[in-house]
Amino acid sequence: MRIGVLSGKGGTGKTFVATNLSYVQKDALFIDCDIEEPNGNIFLKGKIFKEEPVNVLIPEIDHDLCTGCRKCVEFCEFNALAYIKDKVKLFPELCHSCGGCSLLCPEGAIKETEREIGNIEYGMAGTHEVRTGILNTGEATGVPIISKLLDGINREESVTVDCPPGSSCVVMESIKGSDFCVLVIEPTIFGVQNISIVFELVKLFDIPYGAVINKYIPGQEIAHRFCEENHIPVLGVFDFDGKIAELNSIGALASSYNDKYKRQFELLLDKIMEVHAHETAANIKR
Ligand code: SF4
Ligand code: SF4
Repeated sequence: MRIGVLSGKGGTGKTFVATNLSYVQKDALFIDCDIEEPNGNIFLKGKIFKEEPVNVLIPEIDHDLCTGCRKCVEFCEFNALAYIKDKVKLFPELCHSCGGCSLLCPEGAIKETEREIGNIEYGMAGTHEVRTGILNTGEATGVPIISKLLDGINREESVTVDCPPGSSCVVMESIKGSDFCVLVIEPTIFGVQNISIVFELVKLFDIPYGAVINKYIPGQEIAHRFCEENHIPVLGVFDFDGKIAELNSIGALASSYNDKYKRQFELLLDKIMEVHAHETAANIKR
């Protein structure tokens, strides 16, 4: 089963939930798709045994063949091409590798060449596998890294995906093929506002979902109300806890620190399985 863990913004505890959830599963695979700030392996401590670059195709212009018609410049929706001082100039970081300009050039003056945008690290922590996607600074999109990270995943495996925060195209790529989505919510106005956008996205994908309320302080019921109003099952509630903050700050995993925290994540996993089974059965009946 593949579980995608999402949040509306950074700092809600998404990685805290994803890493601990992975830890309490046997022989599990943890995939860090939070490619701009991947820190899951700080907690899981997988020993890296392989690194692989992720390349995309970008255009290369043959200025001897180019007649300066500017069709490629007009075509590029991402403004990655410009005509400057009688020459077509490429801004590689803006290129989305659609391949359109090379197909369209009437002079055959554009061929494609590979360019590295990031890499993937493969690690093992005991019987746990950890895969981490890393996007190079300044790159426009990490979608190719995420699709490579998730390529060929066995559906029978226990997989936890730490998705990027927010609701952009990298988040969509991260939850494609998930069996269940966990929405991590911080019980503040800002936290609920952010997760409401992610919630709309998850509904579009028609994947069963539930919420984890993190850093809960009694009396701060805004996240509970949001879940109730939107019929989102609450899978677990983690109190605002100074010890967890301390463990996070030193890169330690709460579930490996004591049995109390471990049990909380085991119960969370049980609840995910229960809601998933219930939703799957309901879908079959429909
Ligand atoms: S479409 Fe081809 S010929 Fe026209 S400006 Fe672009 S590279 Fe040059
Ligand atoms: S490959 Fe696509 S995105 Fe990149 S420069 Fe050409 S048209 Fe623009």
